Amino acid sequence: MAPKRILVVYAHPDDESFGPSAVLAKYARRGAVIAGLFATRGEHGNTGAQPAPSPVELGRLRECDLRDAAAVIGFRHLDVLGYEDGTLARVPERELEDRIMEAVRRDRPEVIITFGPGGITGHPDHLAIHRAATAAFYRARDEGLGVRELYYDAVGPEAAREMQLENLPDGCSNTWIDVSETYPVKIEALRIHGRHVLDAREMAERLEQNPQLVVPLHRAWPDVLPDEKVTDL
Ligand SMILES: [Zn+2]
Repeated sequence: MAPKRILVVYAHPDDESFGPSAVLAKYARRGAVIAGLFATRGEHGNTGAQPAPSPVELGRLRECDLRDAAAVIGFRHLDVLGYEDGTLARVPERELEDRIMEAVRRDRPEVIITFGPGGITGHPDHLAIHRAATAAFYRARDEGLGVRELYYDAVGPEAAREMQLENLPDGCSNTWIDVSETYPVKIEALRIHGRHVLDAREMAERLEQNPQLVVPLHRAWPDVLPDEKVTDL
C-alpha cells in the first residue's frame, strides 16, 4: 500500500502521545510521512515538580520532550507555533485555521488527525484546535489540496460513559487500529513527556499494567456506513 501523508494538529506537547502515538508509529514504520503541528509549548502544565520550573523554562523543557517523543514515534516534521498555553480559545479562529492551512499546503497530508468536539478532556485549548483543524480540513478539500480523511481522537464505550463523551464523536469510535506491534512506543513517548508532566508519567504506568492493543478513532470524513468496520487509515 502506498505510504500516507499524515498531519496531526494538537494544542500541547503530549496530546499526540496520549492520543494516536501508537497509530502514528505503526504508519511511520510502514513508510508514512508524519507531520505534527502544535499550537503551544504547554508551559502552564502540571509538572508535579518541586520547585516548579518557571513557565518559560517549562515551555522550553516540554518542547524538548515533544521533539524527543516525536523522534521515537517517527515524526518527519514538527512545528510548534508558540501560542500561550491556555489561551487558544481567545485566538481568532480564522487565524488558527490559517496557520493550519500553512501546514497543509506545506505537508500536503492525505489524512488529518486532531481532537473531536469534546477535546477528550474538554480543555478549552483542545476545543479551539478541534474547531480550527476541522475548518482547515474542509477548506483544504474545497481548495483541492488532496486531504482525503479526517479523524478525531476517541475513547471506547466505557471511558465514554465515565468521561461523559458518549453523545460526541469523541465517545463514538468508528475506527479501530490494531497497534499490537507499536503500543510500546506509546508508553515510551509518554515516559518522555513524563519527565515534566505528572499525568503522562501516570498514564505510562497504567498502560504498562494494561496495554492498549487497539486504538479507537472517530472518522469524521468520509462518513462511516453503519455496517462498515474501519480498521485501517
Ligand atoms: Zn492537551
